[in-house]
This record gives sequence, C-alpha cells and structure tokens, in this order.
Amino acid sequence: MAKIIGVTLSERALAGLVVDNKLASPLQCFPADEEDGAMIEMPTDGLVKMLCEQITCAAKGTSDISAVGVALPGIIRNGVVEDSPNLPQLKGARIAELLFAKLAEHGMHTTVNVINDADGMASGLAATLGKLDRLIRVWTLGIGIGYGRYPFIDGVWEGGHGTVSLDEKERYCGCGGLGHIEGIMGHRAMRLRFLDMEPEEVFEAANAGDKRCLEFKKLWHRALAAATATEIHQEGAGKFFLTGFNVRFVDLPLLRDYLQQMVKMSPLQSYSVEIVKDDAETRVIGSAVAAEQAANRA
Ligand SMILES: [Zn+2]
Repeated sequence: MAKIIGVTLSERALAGLVVDNKLASPLQCFPADEEDGAMIEMPTDGLVKMLCEQITCAAKGTSDISAVGVALPGIIRNGVVEDSPNLPQLKGARIAELLFAKLAEHGMHTTVNVINDADGMASGLAATLGKLDRLIRVWTLGIGIGYGRYPFIDGVWEGGHGTVSLDEKERYCGCGGLGHIEGIMGHRAMRLRFLDMEPEEVFEAANAGDKRCLEFKKLWHRALAAATATEIHQEGAGKFFLTGFNVRFVDLPLLRDYLQQMVKMSPLQSYSVEIVKDDAETRVIGSAVAAEQAANRA
C-alpha cells in the first residue's frame, strides 16, 4: 500500500500520512493556533523550510514514503506557482523543486506533486466519497472564491474569477478584474462593498426584509448560479459541491431556482448541488490522492 504525505497550505499548513485514501496519522498543524496572516509574512525559503518540517514530522517512523502531495492557493502548473494572490511571495517559485531539494537534505528522497488547493478539495471529496471515477467540481466560499475540479487535466480553471457581471462598478475582486464572482461572493469583497456591515449582518438584514441587503443576497446567489451554469455549459452536468465557511449564507432553493433559469438545454440538466463540510482532513487526503495519481502517470 502506497504511503503518501498530504499537505495543504492556506491560512495554516496541515500535513498528514495518507494510506489507502485514509488519514493514518494525526494532522500536523502550523501554526498550532489560528493566527491571521502568519503565512503571508513568511518568505518563500521560510515557507519551504516550515513545510519540510511538517512533512518530516508527519512521516516520522515511516521509511518508505512514495510521494508528497502539496495543495496551495493560486495558479500552479508543473510544480511552479505562476500566481498566488493570497500568498504573493510565492509567485514564480519552483515550489516542487525547492521542496524536493529540502526534503533530500533531510534524507527523504521522494517525488513532490503540487496542485491548486481547490483541486485538492475536489480530489479529497472524490476519494472520501468513493467517487474516484467521476467528474467532481467544488466551489469554496471563503475569503476568496475557489473552484476545483477532479480528475486532473492539464490547464487553468480559475473559476472563482469567472466573469458573472458586465457592470463596470463590479470591481471588488482581489485580483483586480471586473465583474468576477469573487468580487461579489468573496468575504473580503463583501466587506469592501458594505463598509458599515459585516457579511453576516448583511444576510441577516436581507432575511429581515432590508431592500438593499435583499438585492445583494439575490445578486450573490445569481453570481454562484451564473458561474455554475457556465461550468455546466463548458464541461457538462454532474455533481457540484459547495464548501468553505460562507456556505452558511447559501439558500439552496434560491440557488437551484436561478440555475434552472440559466440552464435550459435538456442534456445539461442532470446536475446537482450539495453543501459539504470543509474539513482539513479531506483536503490533506486530496493532496495525497492527487500525488499518487501523478506518480502513476509519470
Ligand atoms: Zn478576480
């Protein structure tokens, strides 16, 4: 049975040993407590060193690690971070090569596979739900908006930056692009739009009948429906998962209603949308599963 170390890096770094699509060790966490911005201040070599420590800790006592899988936010191709608005110091870093070399210094000789973190979540859901033969797509509704898909194909799918509005005033996306889904749905973008209210207050007020907030609640759901409808028209119907801390704002019947208005071709109507818990374990398993599949492709 292949023994793989799965790692995810976002606000925190988490690492664990994965065997047969299950976690086989307690998760290593850095920093141990939730600490905003700890990662963003760490230079690339510091991040690589910290990741290496987490990986060797997770591998402790296991000698025959066959691969290491790492999931990071951003556009990742061939082991290189091409862009990462949430971890800007990593832009251009040959992260797979750097980690490979650092691990070798610690006597660990293994392949390193790096993927986008939203894709890691999609792989993790495919593995933990026993659907490794299916197309899985997942929206992560958090500070930004992540869009992940499984199985692996070569390319870029920054679905969170899909354009869902042609209104020139829709300019709140973290990437600076106009009309993006993240500029409407992302937590950071919502705080910029409603400077006087927190996102939870906006949705509360919407449900209490406040006109401006209700309009926004509709826009928020139409944005998600539009982005999902676009993916359905590009890649076909199938399963969509919603995860991330802001799934608490999702009104599924409202979302399904908007989707129905946007997807009319009958071969595309066998889609479904489901909310799932965003747990660190699924993400770690996903990075490991993706690394195992990449090793088998090589
Ligand atoms: Zn954007």
